[in-house]
Parts: sequence; structure tokens; C-alpha cells
Amino acid sequence: MFYKYLIDNFSKEFAKDYYDANQNAIENIAKIVEEEKIECDFERQDAYVFTRAQDEVKKIEDEVKAVKEIGGEAEFVKTIEPPIEDVLCAIKFPNQAMFNVRKYLKGLVNKILENNGQIYEDTKVISVKKDLNGYRIYAEGSVIKAKYVVLATHFPIIDIPGFYFLKMYQETSYVIGIETEHKLFEGMYINSESPTISLRTAKDDDKEIVLIGGMEHRVGAKINLENAYNNLERIAKEMYSDAKVRYKWSTQDCITLDKIPYIGEFSNIMKDVYVATGYKKWGMTTSNVAANIITNKILGKDSKYEKIFKSTRLKPIKNRWEFGEMIKETTNSLIINKFKDAKEGFEDVKKRRRQNCRDTR
Ligand SMILES: Cc1cc2nc3c(=O)[nH]c(=O)nc-3n(C[C@H](O)[C@H](O)[C@H](O)COP(=O)(O)OP(=O)(O)OC[C@H]3O[C@@H](n4cnc5c(N)ncnc54)[C@H](O)[C@@H]3O)c2cc1C
Repeated sequence: MFYKYLIDNFSKEFAKDYYDANQNAIENIAKIVEEEKIECDFERQDAYVFTRAQDEVKKIEDEVKAVKEIGGEAEFVKTIEPPIEDVLCAIKFPNQAMFNVRKYLKGLVNKILENNGQIYEDTKVISVKKDLNGYRIYAEGSVIKAKYVVLATHFPIIDIPGFYFLKMYQETSYVIGIETEHKLFEGMYINSESPTISLRTAKDDDKEIVLIGGMEHRVGAKINLENAYNNLERIAKEMYSDAKVRYKWSTQDCITLDKIPYIGEFSNIMKDVYVATGYKKWGMTTSNVAANIITNKILGKDSKYEKIFKSTRLKPIKNRWEFGEMIKETTNSLIINKFKDAKEGFEDVKKRRRQNCRDTR
């Protein structure tokens, strides 16, 4: 459990700052949505971490204690609303937030443009090189000059220096959006054991749908893609016999070895280049934390939470087991698999990408 992990492996103060940084991010987003009048279905909802495994019950109890110990709000509850069988207990985190991130981003983009900001799409950056007055950013077909560079490209696009590929691994997970005629639930839910199941509702054009996520695995692991979606569909049908799949997504998330995102200076030897990565599947709030820390850095101001996420820290390498596993998986997925026959050609990938874009519209 995360906050107990933070207290045990870092300190109570560290866990408190981590909690506060994320709670602050929710309030920042709520303020932006209100002040900029962004219509993104923003609503306050309680979030729950539940379990169906007996050996997780004590961990849930301990996590509630850990959150309370750092002054956070958490409650131990025995039942949850969605029709999932055999739930033993859960942690309730009251007053969290749920919103449509695409509508939120569209609102932010409009505000940036209204304020004469410029956004370039389809401009893939290939490299970033130091020059006399700052940096030259080489994109396909263009060069951009900048004093500051923020690498917010999910996985950092520069390997050396930085060496983030040695400090992070990636997991793939899946989400389906289903429709049903049954009455839906309030709140957001995720289980504590593996494989993960997460549940929330979302407003689609014509009706409310349920998003069911999970079935994560390391990137590069051999799995049957359809099985992941079929398993989610099976869970959906167990909950709602009339469940019909409307959407399917998959995503890859960066996870750092010590589970703390990297936000701040990219490397000690690349001044004025910043990084924000390793969100551990929680990019909606962590990106807001990152935006504030990096903005302050560029403006020469201190941030209360920057020490928590310091990206030039060396500590993660101490986690030897994860490090060994990561090297093994990276070698397998990036090197060994490259020598195997590709089952799909470029045209198939393009076709699948077009199909996915249609699915996620
Ligand atoms: C279906 C789904 C549900 C999710 N649910 C939740 C949730 O409930 N809560 C939550 O917190 N998180 C959730 N997430 C995860 C969250 O979306 C991610 O954590 C977050 O998007 C990661 O943000 P990022 O900025 O690091 O990367 P991204 O959002 O991937 O953004 C990186 C950007 O960089 C651009 N880029 C990459 N390389 C280059 C390059 N070379 N040149 C130029 N541009 C480049 C990409 O085009 C992209 O626009 C969900 C994700 C999915 C797919």
C-alpha cells in the first residue's frame, strides 16, 4: 500500500508532502476548471481502494492508519457500491475528483491560444543540442531555439545523459468502456491486489458509460492482447449481464524503481532542461504537480514539493530486485524481440492506429 510504503521507505514527512502535493493538485485543477470555465464534467467523487483477497485486509487497515498518521483523510469501509462480488473491505478517500481529461485539455489548449500561446502538432522532436544561447531543438523539418526545454514526452526522448531507461520500466494496461441499462454507481474504484481492476463512470455523448481498466503487464511481456480485453469484458458481464463494449483503449505507463515520479532538472549536466515522467498511471494529478514545480524552477522560485520528486536523485538504483527485473525485461522486449519476425507490417500498424483513433474519439 502506497502511503505505508512511503512512510516505511522514506519518512512520515515525505509521505505527508507526497499526499499534500496530490491533494493540492486536485484543488488546483478544480480552480482552473472554475476560473477558466472549462466544461469537462468535473465532479467531486469519493475514491475507494478495495480488496477481495483475505491477505490484503490487514494491508488495507494499515494503509488507513498510515494515511491518518500523516493527517490525510481515509476511512475503512466494509462494502462498496458497484456490483462486484466478494469484496472484503476498502479504503475510502473522500472528496476526490473525476473529470473528462480530453475535454479539460481542450479547454486548456483554447486558453493557451487565446493568450497568444503557440502549439505545434505533428512536430516530432528528434534531438536537443546545446548552443551558445540555450538549446536547439531539432524536429522533423524544423529547428526551434529555446532557453528552456521541458521534456514531457511520457518517456524522456533523450537517453544520455539522464539514463532514465535504467531507472524506469513500463507497464501496459487496458480499459474498456461499456454501456448497460442497469443503474450505475457513484465513486471511483480500484483493487489493491493483482491483476488490477479499476472502475469509474464517464459521460459519453448520449449516455453514462462504465470504464473498466486493468490487466496490466510489463511492456514486452508475451501476452495475447485479445485476452486482456476479453478478461475485462468478462468482469463487465459479471457486473452487468447486458454489458456491451463501446470502446477499447490500451496505454503504457512509466514507473520508476522507487515509485516516485521524476520531476525537475533532467540532468546535472544539462542546465535549463527539465523532465516530468514516471507518473505511475496517475498522470492527471501528477502532471499538475509537475507543471507547478517546473514553472517555478524556470521562474527561479522554490516549490514546496520539488525535493520529493527530484529527478536527479540516485536512490532508486538501490532497489536491486526491480533493477535486475527491469534489465531482464528491457533486454527481452527491446533487443531479443527485435530479432524475431514481426507479425505486423507498417500498414497493419497504421490501420490499427486509425482504428484505435476511431475507438477513442
Ligand atoms: C484510458 C486511460 C485511462 C487513464 N485513467 C487515468 C486516471 O483515471 N487517472 C490518472 O491519473 N491517469 C490516468 N491515465 C494515465 C494518464 O493518462 C497518464 O499518466 C498521462 O497521460 C501521462 O502523461 P505524460 O504527459 O507523461 O504523457 P502523455 O500524456 O503520453 O503525453 C506525452 C506527449 O508528448 C508527445 N511526444 C512524445 N514524444 C515526442 C517527440 N519526440 N516530439 C514531440 N512530442 C512528443 C506525445 O505526442 C504526447 O502528446 C489513463 C490513461 C489512459 C490511456
